[in-house]
Amino acid sequence: MSRLLIVGSGLAGYTLAREARKLDEAMTIVMVTADDGRFYSKPMLSNALAKGLDPDRLATASAAKMADDHGLRIETHTRVLGVDVQARTVTTEDGELSYDHLVLATGAVPIAPPLRGNAVAQVLTVNNLTDYARFHERVETAQRVALIGPGLIGCEFANDLAASGRAVTVIGPDSHPLGRLLPPAAGRFLRERLTEAGVSWRLGLTAGEVNGGREGAFEITLSDGEVLEADLVLSAIGLRPDTGLAREAGLACGRGIIVDALLQTSAPHVHALGDCIEMDGQVLPFVMPIMHGARALARTLTGEPSAVRYPPMPVVVKTPACPLVLLPPLGPVTGRWEEESVDGGVRARYVGADGALLGFALVGSAVADKAVMLKDIG
Ligand SMILES: Cc1cc2nc3c(=O)[nH]c(=O)nc-3n(C[C@H](O)[C@H](O)[C@H](O)COP(=O)(O)OP(=O)(O)OC[C@H]3O[C@@H](n4cnc5c(N)ncnc54)[C@H](O)[C@@H]3O)c2cc1C
Repeated sequence: MSRLLIVGSGLAGYTLAREARKLDEAMTIVMVTADDGRFYSKPMLSNALAKGLDPDRLATASAAKMADDHGLRIETHTRVLGVDVQARTVTTEDGELSYDHLVLATGAVPIAPPLRGNAVAQVLTVNNLTDYARFHERVETAQRVALIGPGLIGCEFANDLAASGRAVTVIGPDSHPLGRLLPPAAGRFLRERLTEAGVSWRLGLTAGEVNGGREGAFEITLSDGEVLEADLVLSAIGLRPDTGLAREAGLACGRGIIVDALLQTSAPHVHALGDCIEMDGQVLPFVMPIMHGARALARTLTGEPSAVRYPPMPVVVKTPACPLVLLPPLGPVTGRWEEESVDGGVRARYVGADGALLGFALVGSAVADKAVMLKDIG
């Protein structure tokens, strides 16, 4: 009987386990995870506060329930320390486990901002339930929040914090939020809407130091010399694939664990899925690529080699103050943004030299055009 070993109990690990079980009732599926193995919706971490959701309500099933529902053996609070790809074994804190197929679903880790100062260790990031629990506890008593990083997740947190009554100030180097994903008019529209929702900005600036200030507050020194006071500092400058284990095992890695269209790594019998992977030079840390990847990989691992094919996968940004749907152009394409202001929004099309639609950003009322845009992109 074939033995599938999955490292990681995030969306990638659990979706693969569920899909593989659907196709093969007899296969032994073992999951090893460094955390407590609770199943939760990670996207909800950045819009749970205003809904009043505490950390326990974000988890929808315990590891024991997931094991029961899908016929898994789950080793929680167990970190995998090494992989021997020749012997087909992994070493954990509790001993050795063998596999026929290994899938690394180790996710991504927050990028630490380059900060100095005596309170850097108290800067929070939120990338899992444990982080959210700490954030939730600290934000209870925080009125002023400094948020470093006006990217996708940063804007979601900013909207959520403002909606929950906090005074939030967002710091970032670009002239508008989502600087790498949105062209100027769309970015300005988003900034205006979030401003109306109560968000303040320090754009064109970076945070240099975070020090302890008066009465338990923090002082954040910005690149123009301004010193901002806050009760809590949250960093959301991005995530990078967690490749540590794969590198140690000698697997080929770039920004992420390099996989081919079958999600196969450079080692036989070792696949990878989720935020930890890089395919065709792309890192796609979103839900939809995981769902498509998990279904294809489950077929491959149960005897029907299936390349993953991604359809266009727009990302719905959870900023209720400003509806926003993005389809960033994939790969190293050359093109240009064409922006059009519409009543209550901005429609931005990213077109190639031949005029073909390669991506889009729909802001405000323009989100209504999503279906038409997707049809145009083919
Ligand atoms: C705040 C936030 C909001 C988001 N919002 C959206 C959204 O709106 N839409 C969208 O499409 N995407 C969103 N995303 C991205 C999406 O949530 C992720 O793409 C997805 O959850 C990643 O799942 P994963 O299983 O790859 O990684 P993770 O959930 O990070 O799981 C990794 C697992 O690996 C385990 N692990 C790591 N190393 C080891 C080891 N050595 N040994 C054992 N276990 C190990 C960890 O404990 C964990 O269980 C958001 C992400 C964040 C952080």
